[in-house]
Amino acid sequence: MYDLIIIGGGPAGLTAGLYGARGKLKTLILEASMEGGQMNNTLSVENYPGIQEGGSGMELGMRMADQAKEFGAEIRHEEVVEVDLDGKIKKVKTDKETYEGRTVIITTGAKPRKLGVPGELEFANRGVSYCATCDGAFYQDMDVYVIGGGDAAVEEGDLLTKFAHHVYIVHRRDELRAAKSLQDRVFNNEKVTLIWDSVLKEVKGDKIAEEVVLENVKTKEVSSHKSTTDSKGIGIFIYVGYEPKTDFLQGKLALDDKGYIKTDGKMQTNVEGVYAAGDIRSEGVKQVVTAVGEGATAALMVTKYLSNNL
Ligand code: NAP
Repeated sequence: MYDLIIIGGGPAGLTAGLYGARGKLKTLILEASMEGGQMNNTLSVENYPGIQEGGSGMELGMRMADQAKEFGAEIRHEEVVEVDLDGKIKKVKTDKETYEGRTVIITTGAKPRKLGVPGELEFANRGVSYCATCDGAFYQDMDVYVIGGGDAAVEEGDLLTKFAHHVYIVHRRDELRAAKSLQDRVFNNEKVTLIWDSVLKEVKGDKIAEEVVLENVKTKEVSSHKSTTDSKGIGIFIYVGYEPKTDFLQGKLALDDKGYIKTDGKMQTNVEGVYAAGDIRSEGVKQVVTAVGEGATAALMVTKYLSNNL
């Protein structure tokens, strides 16, 4: 029996684990893949206080995991498939075992949203990608199309210029959503061209992606874009937001209309003894630094809850 089971090992989950274990709670963190969550897709975390020189998200994730383990948190790499959150004892079933805990913190975060256009799935990993940090180097001296206008699209578009021959950022409006500081980077980068008021209609090719079809949403003009380099292939990086990883929670606690978990300001869900933190929460700004703060808050609230429910 655990005092605290944390589902998800990104910055929110690892910080909750650190605080829980340091507070002498018997703490288990369940993470389906690698500790660090979406941080693993970031080559340099520049906006985390105290690490001015940046550093990769993966490194930061590993350090957070080590710190949580040092205080006694247990980390298991298992995928949660079902939960029973009713009653005083919560049951968390993974692909391997069923665990029991007195409290649960859910920090499963979010995954990249797919556009659902023809060719997107067909050419996944053969031109279409959702992670510039992971796949950018495969597109050395090639043309790359980045779809989206938020922080992720602009930041990763800028990063891709390190590898690509040229980066085209395709945005459905005539103004970016991204932070001004990020916008300045691409506006001042001669390897980046903005394609405004346009959406991706289709990805075409043979064995690899070779052509993107765009539509101007204002004029309805459809245009086809192929490689302008010696390489036949092109890259398409899709950054149109994220969707929550809450499939296993349907009907178990209150979610908003997009599937994110509703909590109060103390990270408490509508189920007693169950908390949520980080990107999975309905509210919040989805930053590493806020995920960390929310993870700490959730774990401290768990400590309080457990001492009131001995
Ligand atoms: P986001 O802020 O939701 O932006 C998504 C972008 O994709 C928007 O520009 C949106 O267009 C566009 N889009 C959405 N659906 C589309 C569709 N069907 N077709 C074409 N375009 C579509 O998502 P994000 O950039 O992934 O960022 C998610 C969160 O993480 C944000 O809170 C962000 O601040 C944070 N983040 C922060 C950093 C950082 O601080 N360095 C880096 C990455 C992410 P519209 O603008 O027209 O809605």
